[in-house]
Amino acid sequence: MKKRILVLGAGFGGLELCTTLSETLGDAVDVTLIDKGDAFVFGYSKLDVMFGHTTLDRVRLPYSRFAKPGVRLLKETVVSVDPMGKRVVTDQGTHEADYLVLALGADYDFDATPGLADVNEFYTVEGAVRVAGILPAFAGGNIVVGVCGAPFKCPPAPSETVLMMHDYLVTRGIRNACKITLILPLETPVPPSPETSRALLAAFAERDITFVADREVRSIDAKRRIATIDDGREFPFDLFLGVPVNRAPRILEASGMTEDGYVPVKPKTLETRFPDVYAVGDCARQGTPKAGVFAEGAARAVARTLIARLRGEEAPVTHQGTGSCYLEFGAGRIGRVDVDFFSDPEGPTGTYHAPSVALRVDKDNFGSSRRARWFGL
Ligand SMILES: Cc1cc2nc3c(=O)[nH]c(=O)nc-3n(C[C@H](O)[C@H](O)[C@H](O)COP(=O)(O)OP(=O)(O)OC[C@H]3O[C@@H](n4cnc5c(N)ncnc54)[C@H](O)[C@@H]3O)c2cc1C
Repeated sequence: MKKRILVLGAGFGGLELCTTLSETLGDAVDVTLIDKGDAFVFGYSKLDVMFGHTTLDRVRLPYSRFAKPGVRLLKETVVSVDPMGKRVVTDQGTHEADYLVLALGADYDFDATPGLADVNEFYTVEGAVRVAGILPAFAGGNIVVGVCGAPFKCPPAPSETVLMMHDYLVTRGIRNACKITLILPLETPVPPSPETSRALLAAFAERDITFVADREVRSIDAKRRIATIDDGREFPFDLFLGVPVNRAPRILEASGMTEDGYVPVKPKTLETRFPDVYAVGDCARQGTPKAGVFAEGAARAVARTLIARLRGEEAPVTHQGTGSCYLEFGAGRIGRVDVDFFSDPEGPTGTYHAPSVALRVDKDNFGSSRRARWFGL
């Protein structure tokens, strides 16, 4: 009988894992991929949608285009996971597996920040689309981009947002009528790379963007239009764009798999404490940032391990803890930071590549190569 691999979540991690398994093993193995959605959207596409650079239709990658030998993609919602039995219950039935991989991403906890649900966020597709509808009528005032807790997905994204906001307001001719403030629960915009952080801080200063470091938004009073941060300071706003508290989906907590909101894994093998159960990407605590490139790298590492195990070979310990993040600096210029979380025992390191138009081609290739590889588009 074929071995059954069950993958929960068809995001960065799940798509890459199943693609790699299919490329190597074809239909010699029985892979089931489950997702509650109809389509995948790159995280960074939300920023492009929000600022009107593209439309949701153009960046939605429908799961109906994901066709890989040996892989069944099912549209179902996972409601519980039994990690000991490797048994998963969905709204459609029960699935059992020989190997189980959790790639369910991070959810947003709106209840953790009183009042946040009454204002705008831009981390969901729906939120980004809503902001895209509001921005054209925005006439000026205080814009506060505020993060409600760490860790959060794509640490550079709020910094990119304020730089893109600056450009947007300049284009509309209302930049002088606006004040932009960024509230970030990090000491610097990109902690592993002081050089990248310096470049972003210089870009904020040049554009008169206020940066509030190492603080998080605690509550929102939507009526008075005030955001309060964790040291008690209040920030009046006319437009608030929030990043909600992130956490692994509650079903994983209910399944007894999480500690402090995430599924702990061995950093280099992505093994959970349950035999034959792995977790990759944003739902796991691996010691790397919550970013697509890291979810993808973790997925490749688990794929290599599973392939070796199925062939009766020794499982390699392969996750390098490295990845590259692109940074929108505005005006079509993109920077890049290559980060390495595991090599240096002193801590994470990063190499900065200054913004250029050439790096935009690099970023476009990053997106189009995944689009082609996963969806044949
Ligand atoms: C604004 C923004 C910008 C970003 N920019 C970048 C960037 O430039 N580069 C980068 O590398 N990363 C970026 N990211 C981060 C990136 O999007 C995530 O880190 C990445 O998607 C995580 O991959 P994942 O596979 O862990 O989870 P996801 O890609 O989130 O996939 C999880 C999947 O699980 C499914 N799921 C969840 N719960 C259930 C359930 N109960 N039943 C069934 N299915 C379920 C979801 O529908 C989803 O498809 C950005 C994120 C945001 C919000």
